[in-house]
Order: sequence, then C-alpha cells, then structure tokens
Amino acid sequence: MPDNCPVCDSELIRIDGEVALRCVNPQCPAQMKEALIHFVSRNAMNIEGIGERVVDQLYTAGLVHDVSDLYALTKDQLLSLERMGRECIELDICD
Ligand SMILES: [Zn+2]
Repeated sequence: MPDNCPVCDSELIRIDGEVALRCVNPQCPAQMKEALIHFVSRNAMNIEGIGERVVDQLYTAGLVHDVSDLYALTKDQLLSLERMGRECIELDICD
C-alpha cells in the first residue's frame, strides 16, 4: 500500500467503510479526472459524443478541469481532440 498519492504525492487516507485509499488533495488531478468520468458516465446522453475515453483525452490535453468546462468546450477543441490525444500518448508525457 502506498502512503502517498502516485499522482500528486499528497497523503492517502482510508475512509471508514471503504476499501480504497483516497488522496486528501481536493485538487488532485487523478481525483478530478475520476469525478469527470463519473459525471459523464451518468450523464452521457446529455453531452453528445463525450464518453469516458474522450474525457480522459480532454483532461490530459488540459482542455477540461471540471464539469463546467465540459459545457464550455468549443467545436474546434473537440475536433482537435483525437490528434492531441494521440500525440500525448506517443510522447508518454501525460502522467
Ligand atoms: Zn492525489
């Protein structure tokens, strides 16, 4: 079990009744992305064409930081998404 978050290096705590450890940092990128993916998976029909994989790319590309950003996206940003996602993966600099 790690003592610190592998993403932001903040302390990890165990919440009563839960198995998973949780990072104490509310601004932790890992948590922000999880929250976005959770939101999209529950509301997928409300945001046309955006699924978990897309959210992952958007977040990695720095285009989305919270839920409100999803609604502020421009068409150009979405169109450029695939390309940016691939570059990011190829360069392996995302994480
Ligand atoms: Zn963290």
